[in-house]
Amino acid sequence: MSRVDVAIVGAGPVGAALAALLAPGGRSVRVVEAREAPSRDARTLALSQASRECLEQAGGWPAAGATPIADIHVSQKGGPGRTLITAADQGLEALGYTVSYALLEETLGRRLGELGVTVSWGTPCEAIELGTEAATLRLAGGEAVEARLLVLADGGANARRIPGLAYAEKDYGQVALTGPVHADRPHRGRAYERFTPKGPVALLPVGDRYSLVWTATPAEADRLLALDDAAFLAELQAHFGDRAGRFVAAGPRAAFPLKLRTINSTIALRTVISGNAAQAMHPIAGQGLNIGLRDAAALAAILADDPAGDPGSAAVLEAYRGARRRDAGRGVAFTDFLVGAFMDGRRLPTWGRGAALTLLDLVPPARRWLAGRMIHGAPSR
Ligand SMILES: Cc1cc2nc3c(=O)[nH]c(=O)nc-3n(C[C@H](O)[C@H](O)[C@H](O)COP(=O)(O)OP(=O)(O)OC[C@H]3O[C@@H](n4cnc5c(N)ncnc54)[C@H](O)[C@@H]3O)c2cc1C
Repeated sequence: MSRVDVAIVGAGPVGAALAALLAPGGRSVRVVEAREAPSRDARTLALSQASRECLEQAGGWPAAGATPIADIHVSQKGGPGRTLITAADQGLEALGYTVSYALLEETLGRRLGELGVTVSWGTPCEAIELGTEAATLRLAGGEAVEARLLVLADGGANARRIPGLAYAEKDYGQVALTGPVHADRPHRGRAYERFTPKGPVALLPVGDRYSLVWTATPAEADRLLALDDAAFLAELQAHFGDRAGRFVAAGPRAAFPLKLRTINSTIALRTVISGNAAQAMHPIAGQGLNIGLRDAAALAAILADDPAGDPGSAAVLEAYRGARRRDAGRGVAFTDFLVGAFMDGRRLPTWGRGAALTLLDLVPPARRWLAGRMIHGAPSR
């Protein structure tokens, strides 16, 4: 049996960033990951300035592959109103940045190598036993790892194994279709969020192209996935309009089912649950990883306050729960509100959505509030 201070299940961006934040503090850290190797996940992530700073601190910011977002154009199809949230308005260099999930994983993986953190690839955690002094992980292949603190950053795979932990799920009945798209006009750092009666469509600037997130019903997504590129681009043009120019090329597409899933407690005996394992949400507002990185940063800060202390003590766990409750809860509520307001019209009819967008455009403080919420999350007090 090996023994460590902190065992992290999941080498996704939250688990890897947390390991990179903790390792320089002198604690022994072990990461176990089910996948055989870093993923080639095609999704593009919009990250806030705060997430950039967290990843820079972790030494895992993919600077050369990050594209700054200069402004976000928000509109709705078949209704009035639009708003433009600009970096200049916020007094910022950029509203945020886009990076690919795969590049982020690669960069963090390299950093963990430099720090000498052991990452066991292809080693899923198969069982968990929690005790008052330590948590024990049983890994595929038979190895056991004992940790004073266990962090579940596995996207939600293992929390159900812990008595008392349970998820609440809301299925939006939708799928996010993603993939690269080229337009005949340069994006100049502009991202688009367009609300349509069939669901939101987002275009994120990445390198010299866009990354598309097209929300659709599963049946519609299957149909769109099966189209050849020319037919797909024609449908996208008709659906999105021409504000980004003419779409001229598309790359491989992938689909992700969309759910809101929250856990009833982000702590258990000797255990912290973070990132998507604690809260997984619709990508409409680009909040998921931004919140997950704030989970990692908060835990790292709490542990740094007492570098020689017990990392899995009740005091540490309670401090973590207290630090994260408000921000994570608000992020979930904000995202769910946007889905309800702008997607299915139950909360806001079309004229109401138009009024909301016009209001945002006319009232700079309202725009700043929305941008602030998207960039920094909810204030912690
Ligand atoms: C289409 C789409 C677009 C998105 N866009 C954005 C965006 O713009 N901005 C944003 O902030 N967020 C976005 N998100 C959300 C973001 O992707 C997630 O919040 C983020 O990936 C969560 O990271 P994580 O490390 O917590 O979990 P994950 O990325 O799910 O990683 C979990 C890891 O745990 C591993 N694992 C699972 N089971 C086990 C096991 N038993 N043992 C060991 N390892 C295990 C998995 O293999 C995986 O590597 C988007 C999501 C989608 C689907």
